[in-house]
Formats: sequence, structure tokens, C-alpha cells
Amino acid sequence: MFCQNCGKPVLVGASKCASCGSAIGFPAPPPPPDDDIDRIAENLKRAAKELAQSAAQLSKRLSVEAESAAKNPGASAKRAAGRVAKELDDLSKEVDRVLQNL
Ligand SMILES: [Zn+2]
Repeated sequence: MFCQNCGKPVLVGASKCASCGSAIGFPAPPPPPDDDIDRIAENLKRAAKELAQSAAQLSKRLSVEAESAAKNPGASAKRAAGRVAKELDDLSKEVDRVLQNL
């Protein structure tokens, strides 16, 4: 590297220029441009995974509900619909939570 004051070469790690004595400013470390992107990508991957898990759980529960509603049509269908609505509500809350954590 070179002295920013006089332009003479200085030893790596030197705190002062041997020629002019001015303090050597260490060049700022290059910003890690990929860091944020990696972090965001990691968060998105995790969020997608959580959503996929939630969706898988939901569809499993929905198929159980559908099965039980098929066995007991009538009154239970209404209850099942209510539970399904609640499951969907829970999932949308889960989605909100995941998105807020991004
Ligand atoms: Zn110098």
C-alpha cells in the first residue's frame, strides 16, 4: 500500500509513513455486499420452510375434518366448517408472524 499523504510505499501494517510520518489510515474493509443478501435469502428460505410446514399441517387437518364431515353429514359439517375457518385464520396469523420475522 501507499502513503495517502506523500504517495510513497509503506509497509503493510505500519501505523505511520516512514517518509513523511503521517498516520496511515487503514483502508476501510470492503463492505460485504453479499452478506445482507445471504441473510435475506436465509430468512426467506426459513420462512418458506415454515410456511410449507404450516400448509402441510393444515392440509392434513383439513383432510381429517373432511373425512369426519363425510362420515357425519349434517350438524358436524357446520362444526367442521367452523374449525376449518379457524385453521385458516390461524394459518394467516402464522404467515403474518413469519413475514414479520423476515
Ligand atoms: Zn508519507
